[in-house]
Amino acid sequence: MRVGSEVRNGSNMKEYLEEAPQSWSERLVLSAVPKDGTLYSDGFALSAGLPVSYWGQLYTLLSDMEVELRAYRSEGRVILTVATEAEVSAPCARCLEPAREKIRGELRYVLSLRRGEERAVGEPESDGDEEIIALDSWEDEIDLAPMIWEALITSLPCGLLCRPDCRGLCPQCGANLNEAPCGCKKDAGDPRFDVLKNFMRGKGNDTAKNQK
Ligand SMILES: [Zn+2]
Ligand SMILES: [Zn+2]
Repeated sequence: MRVGSEVRNGSNMKEYLEEAPQSWSERLVLSAVPKDGTLYSDGFALSAGLPVSYWGQLYTLLSDMEVELRAYRSEGRVILTVATEAEVSAPCARCLEPAREKIRGELRYVLSLRRGEERAVGEPESDGDEEIIALDSWEDEIDLAPMIWEALITSLPCGLLCRPDCRGLCPQCGANLNEAPCGCKKDAGDPRFDVLKNFMRGKGNDTAKNQK
């Protein structure tokens, strides 16, 4: 699950996160999940400290991220839902000005006791949308950081816009077209269409005047 290099204190310290920071030390204590199948829930806030890097894009959490846990037992397994809520900022995909969005992520995990040696250690198993995590019988605490991280990054928006109708940057002069028109002539067009334009003009067709 964990990718990239560790964020360390000292000279190698990175300016962004590629995995859950070490300050996320929250754990789920399995024995705290009721045996009778009733719901265990917990909630807390986490801060990232640094921007989050995902697919080459940096996202800044504008405030603490809210994390909500729900867990219950079913047929000897623990069904865990990890939900995250945050407001993130990233450059607008069209004009590069800061854009922000509220995001919500939710992932479901099935924590299942490992039976004998039927699976190799660390071998991932998936059952549709949920991820099955094999536990050893002596394990009572689950490190939640990788799951919280996964819920967060899978909810990050791609192609974030500062506003739905952002006009973006002029491809010729780079001006931000949300501020003012830049005066560049719009794409001169494919010269091969001039023949058609002249033909339309010759026929006195109004559509030729509307073309710019
Ligand atoms: Zn924009
Ligand atoms: Zn321009």
